[in-house]
Amino acid sequence: MDSASKTPGPNIRYKLIVAGIIALLAASLLGLVMLQERAATEAQARKNPTAQAFEKAPEAWLANPREASEFERALTARELAAVAVDGQLVLYTDRQGRQFSSHLINCGPGCRNELVSRLGELSVKQGFALTSIDIDARTASQRLTQSLDKVAGVLAGLLPILLIVGLLAYFQLRGTLGQRTKLAEKPDIRFDDVIGAEEAKKALRRVAAFMKDPAQYAAVGAQAPRGVLLDGPPGTGKTLLAKALAGECGASFISVDGSSFSSMFYGAGINKVKELFARARQAAPCIVFIDEIDGIGRRSSGKDAHGGEQEQNRIINRLLVEMDGFSSLENVVVIGATNHIDNIDEAMRRPGRFDLMVRTSLPTAPEREALFGLYLGKVKADSGMDIASIARTSVGMSPADVANCVNRAAAYAAEAGETSVSEERVYQSLETHQLGGEVSSTKSVITPETLRRIAFHESGHALVAHVLNAGTVERISIEPRGPALGVTYVARHNEEPLHGEQELRSRLAMMLAGREAELIAFGNTSSGASDDLKRASELATSMIGSYGFGKTFGLLSMAGVPRELIGPDVQKSLLDEARQLLESAQAECRRVLEEKRDRLDNLAELLLGQETISGAPLKRVLSGEAA
Ligand code: ADP
Repeated sequence: MDSASKTPGPNIRYKLIVAGIIALLAASLLGLVMLQERAATEAQARKNPTAQAFEKAPEAWLANPREASEFERALTARELAAVAVDGQLVLYTDRQGRQFSSHLINCGPGCRNELVSRLGELSVKQGFALTSIDIDARTASQRLTQSLDKVAGVLAGLLPILLIVGLLAYFQLRGTLGQRTKLAEKPDIRFDDVIGAEEAKKALRRVAAFMKDPAQYAAVGAQAPRGVLLDGPPGTGKTLLAKALAGECGASFISVDGSSFSSMFYGAGINKVKELFARARQAAPCIVFIDEIDGIGRRSSGKDAHGGEQEQNRIINRLLVEMDGFSSLENVVVIGATNHIDNIDEAMRRPGRFDLMVRTSLPTAPEREALFGLYLGKVKADSGMDIASIARTSVGMSPADVANCVNRAAAYAAEAGETSVSEERVYQSLETHQLGGEVSSTKSVITPETLRRIAFHESGHALVAHVLNAGTVERISIEPRGPALGVTYVARHNEEPLHGEQELRSRLAMMLAGREAELIAFGNTSSGASDDLKRASELATSMIGSYGFGKTFGLLSMAGVPRELIGPDVQKSLLDEARQLLESAQAECRRVLEEKRDRLDNLAELLLGQETISGAPLKRVLSGEAA
């Protein structure tokens, strides 16, 4: 069912616009032809009567073609009364009034030149009229074909313009129709299909209660929820939650993109808003989902706004007017999604508009575990995977990232001709996501010595992280991906928002351990530690300057001290103490690495043999059991 087709207003408007443009083009074409004809008529009026007589009906002469030699003979015999020349064509009338035509070219170039120069003299001597004319010597059918060619030529010139206008009109219409197809959607998703997002679900359940029985809300005079703003990073389930809300209430779901309201045609954006709400009312109960609502959500100050911005303001106003116009029983709720909440106009957040704000956030480790479980369940995956470890390793991934990661793992398995998705494929896909690329071509230029250095570097990170308990070492790889030559995954034991001082000191030591391992194994270091040193320096300065872990500043946080009070001496003391902190972390990690040198060597050798280690073999070497 497509009830929206009953609201044809905007479509007619678009058709009128397109028809108008086509009419304009046709009128321009007609104008061009008329101008050309007028110029021809004016030129005609300037000619002498003899020429006009020839030009009026040249067919009479053209109907009797004669050889050039025949014309020459008549000329010599003084039989001519009037001669008209048009390039190589000669029309002539003899003294008996007979009319002939002749192509001078037929008598050869020499003869023709001579003839043309003689004609002037002879016309005076013999007393025949000589004139130059401009006629169309083609037959009627030739003329028609050539006229068509001309029109085609003009049209070809106009074609790019016609094409652009056509495309614009097409996309404009398609944009409108596109929204219509989405109207049919009746999602069968429920809140239980959305993993995590408990806070958001709780808020949306209240909206669901209203949608299921708006009369009850109206009866007690409660204000109906009209607009919900979903704020959160991309891929955290905003669209999914809105669909689940529609699914829970058996409501229709219309989805549009905030930017789709902007239009090149003045007024079209406002019509789209009107059309959207007309459809929503007809399809009630209905959820209108506006993705990236910040695309229309910011108004610009009135008098400075240029054309496009004024149109933008009008679109926002129209949206608000439509929302204000809901009656208490009208069962339509608008959900706007954004990850730039600050870009939403204040007026949009007033009561009765988007007055309910719901945040979505990145999933926690248990939620990621459930997400991997869900999406691995949708592909053919090996049983017995350590999903908890995968979840710990995938810190910072959104639910959409998890879904993509599993998809990519399945694609890897299919490419390799495997019959199911293995844990190794999931990690391979995870690394591609986290390190920003597939195994890079750098691999082919790495020498065995450099590979050895990378193996010791990564083993150093892993061993110190394990011994100082900076986290759980999940996996080490020395395959270069994206900008990284190797990688060690260390997951925090928990995802608590607070970090203890000891944990941070261990992390500092872990960051410096790659460089230290290189020093121990080779007696020198490389540029491979630059990123580690950068991150360790950032952490050390924060620990001294902001977290209150230093002695010089005590409880003073540099973040709270006015800039003008932070002179060079203060900066120097801060950097000195941060450096001392780094040096003590370095000493700590050297102690660990020297003490556990055998484990460091074993780990590096295993890595050189296997490129990637995880799970039980990794744990065994880290804890000093035989590899
Ligand atoms: P957003 O609208 O926040 O950008 P989406 O709702 O479009 O994110 O999510 C994209 C995809 O990610 C969904 O189609 C779904 O496959 C997956 N997804 C997102 N959030 C969740 C969740 N909480 N539970 C399960 N899958 C999710």
